[in-house]
Amino acid sequence: MHLTKDGEGRTRAELRTLTPDALPEGEVLVKVSHSTLNYKDALAITGSSPVVRSFPMVPGIDFVGTVERSADPRYQVGDAVLLNGWGVGEAHWGGLAGYASVRADWLIPLPHGMSPAHAMAIGTAGYTAMLCVMALQAHGVAPGAGPVLVTGANGGVGSIAIALLARAGHLVTASTGRREEEPHLRALGASAIMDRNLLSNAGKPLQKENWAAAVDCVGSHTLANVLAGTRYGGVVAACGLAQGMDLPATVAPFILRGVSLIGIDSVQAPRERRLQAWQRLARDLPADVLDSNTRTVSLPDALALAPELLAGKIRGRVVVQID
Ligand code: NDP
Repeated sequence: MHLTKDGEGRTRAELRTLTPDALPEGEVLVKVSHSTLNYKDALAITGSSPVVRSFPMVPGIDFVGTVERSADPRYQVGDAVLLNGWGVGEAHWGGLAGYASVRADWLIPLPHGMSPAHAMAIGTAGYTAMLCVMALQAHGVAPGAGPVLVTGANGGVGSIAIALLARAGHLVTASTGRREEEPHLRALGASAIMDRNLLSNAGKPLQKENWAAAVDCVGSHTLANVLAGTRYGGVVAACGLAQGMDLPATVAPFILRGVSLIGIDSVQAPRERRLQAWQRLARDLPADVLDSNTRTVSLPDALALAPELLAGKIRGRVVVQID
């Protein structure tokens, strides 16, 4: 998939066949088997937010494939590898293509026992969900602490966060604008569902102490209300901005209830944390848990689905099968 800008500054996304010498410099050449459509990819493809830092660009912030050529001794021809983040699909050509040419440091081996399709059913969204869960656990949130809220529940990050938290023994409340998806959210592991409208507008700085912890994919008033409704000593992992980038909150939850707000970044996360997150995903999230949460499409379909994803009409994960 090839992104260019026209004379009026509009992004043009199309499928094109390029020769291998068009690929950027990189230590490792990977034949991509699967990539995915993430929120950020949809922003890049539609041009609705300036996530692409240079044109022409190949989008795709994650991919899995096999090494076809390597100038780095850590990777041999035929190795199965995985990549998320590091500005790939934003500043460096990404995974929605037949081949990717990347730095060796950006790759990690595909975890043992995980198929390429399973890895991309998890993808950047699932890996980010795991970083959120690891952050909550590192700050002492244990099963039995009380309900854990997940906002943006039907999205890629939210849906996998629900599955991970429930499997770790937490009681999970899913906040969603799509009540009709309640059976799906319960199947993933949610024990309660709430309407996201209850969190969408300006609220009081301190509210009833509902949540022992939360994973927030939404930002803006939603995150402010989540903080205001978090119990004494509770922990909130913030990873997304589906409602907005602003945070119209007060310091009251921090200074009166000792609430902690932890920022989650998946793009530049250090290699050790990535390896740990992916090992845990391989261990804790069997492929069948994700079957009902995953849609597999072709490259042309991915192009057409980008606006739908931004409109919040897609449930769970979109895997793009390349070969
Ligand atoms: P999705 O588009 O798959 O999901 C976002 C979900 O948020 C939607 O499904 C919807 O859930 C909810 N939502 C959408 N619009 C609104 C709104 N206006 N108000 C309240 N809720 C809304 O995206 P992802 O799950 O892939 O990503 C979620 C967020 O996390 C994005 O902002 C993304 O940029 C960010 N992200 C950050 C990363 C990091 O490194 N920090 C890595 C990956 C993603 P429902 O229909 O259930 O209400």
